[in-house]
Amino acid sequence: MPDYASLEEVREAIEHCPCSLCKTRTKPVMGAGNPHAQVVFVGEAPGFHEDKEGVPFVGAAGKFLDEMLASINLNRSDVFITNMVHSRPPGNRDPEPQELDASWPYLAAQIQLVKPLVIVTLGRFSKAKFVPDAGPISRVHGQVFVRPNPATGDERQWYVTLYHPAAGLHQADLKAVIKRDFHSITQALAAASATPITRPNT
Ligand code: URA
Repeated sequence: MPDYASLEEVREAIEHCPCSLCKTRTKPVMGAGNPHAQVVFVGEAPGFHEDKEGVPFVGAAGKFLDEMLASINLNRSDVFITNMVHSRPPGNRDPEPQELDASWPYLAAQIQLVKPLVIVTLGRFSKAKFVPDAGPISRVHGQVFVRPNPATGDERQWYVTLYHPAAGLHQADLKAVIKRDFHSITQALAAASATPITRPNT
């Protein structure tokens, strides 16, 4: 896995990435927010608006995300928001396994550099990467997990598994569920602050 000294180096690497998605994108969508955030959100992939602006979660799902952040007294400058892949899949299709693999070193580097207390997975792709043994999102949404961190090699990392915000836009009954689940982030943060992360060789 390449080593990046800063988020700026990760950004430059994404700009020059030769993967197949990068050939069709308008702008790469690097993570955004607080480089020292306690909470990192990992979504799926940039959509139409993100591809135009080069910023994650700026469309309708992003507005809902902002609303939910505010409901737990956070805003974008408190957290770091990124995605499983950093270029828009054509037509907003699901990212393919080789595209997820190609983006992983960049995502892993962002997590290594930010070192969050809590990683919030948004939707099934990030849940599958970080909490692969969790059941379907319909069962585990809003739950707090402690699992290894594949990006840092830490043995214990706190996670919250949430529905993707877009699910709340398409299914009105899920909107209230997602809003309620968001409060698990506050609980996970309190628990993570009270329990230091176990880092190998430290
Ligand atoms: N959906 C995502 O998963 N990520 C974005 O950045 C926008 C929409």
